[in-house]
Amino acid sequence: MELLSIIVPCYNEEAALGAFYERASAVCARLPGVDVEYIFVDDGSTDGTLDALRELAGRERAVRWLSFSRNFGKEAAMFAGLEHAKGDYAAVMDADLQDPPELLPELLDAVRGGACDCAAVRRVDRKGEPPIRSWFARQFYKLINRMSKTEIVDGARDYRLMTRQMTDAILRLREYNRFSKGIFSWVGFRTKWVETVNAQRAAGESKWSFFKLLVYALDGIMAFSTAPLAVASVLGLALCALSFFAIVFVIVRQLVWGGSAFGWPSLVCIILFLAGIQLFCVGILGQYLAKTYLEVKRRPIYILREQGGGRSEDEKDGKEL
Ligand code: UDP
Ligand code: MG
Repeated sequence: MELLSIIVPCYNEEAALGAFYERASAVCARLPGVDVEYIFVDDGSTDGTLDALRELAGRERAVRWLSFSRNFGKEAAMFAGLEHAKGDYAAVMDADLQDPPELLPELLDAVRGGACDCAAVRRVDRKGEPPIRSWFARQFYKLINRMSKTEIVDGARDYRLMTRQMTDAILRLREYNRFSKGIFSWVGFRTKWVETVNAQRAAGESKWSFFKLLVYALDGIMAFSTAPLAVASVLGLALCALSFFAIVFVIVRQLVWGGSAFGWPSLVCIILFLAGIQLFCVGILGQYLAKTYLEVKRRPIYILREQGGGRSEDEKDGKEL
């Protein structure tokens, strides 16, 4: 029998967990030829998520859980899950049922057939999302794909199933500023896209405010592109050229008509404009420097406080063998 590890990052998902497990296990029971292990990663939840996981693991032998010492973010939770996965295949899915478990058989078939190393889900619409957010999201994908060589697919969810080989490749990328959509694509391998329509959250609420998403988008751009760093040089060159023409213009005007130096307001505007651009460019530099600083510290991506579950293993060690 092959083993499929299903990794589920959970942050305050108490309300959704029961429904998730019920629907996912109903689907997994019908998967031919694979055993399934669930790895729930409690990302420092402040509600009853951990208790719910303990209770679930006490009841279901296929369930294991990891619990972080604080909220490290979904990226860290996915990484921890992948690191603890023992399966021949690993799947990552959200706890809120926005990633329909019913797609699992299709994903597994695709990867097992050998035609691809990874089957990933992409949503083809953004129904139920504020139009402004969709617009920003679309602009983000356009921008990042223009700026980065790594292809970031619009509408790609983190929901995907991959081979052991690809999982190991992802685990080798131990960077601290993680942007999974980029990492999945950067490691390469053949990916098959399965399309689905947008599903609403089963319970609880989204942890992503508009501002958080914006920061995530900027992190993504910085993790997979150094193009912003070039902005400073290009802008500087352009301004030099402009000022050269302006100087020529002023000199010629002085020689031909005389009285070239009028007024300081125009001067102040120019100074403010240039100072603004300089600060903007220094800011970009600072952002990259900050990211580099964090990477150089080599801090762990997550810290575990507790883990448990997976009784089947104890039993193997104990009475079954
Ligand atoms: N999540 C997490 N840590 C966080 C935020 C979210 O582990 O800091 C998990 C969350 O529990 C869920 C998944 O990531 O399983 C997706 O989060 P959410 O549904 O809030 O995002 P959305 O679907 O709205 O993009
Ligand atoms: Mg969600």
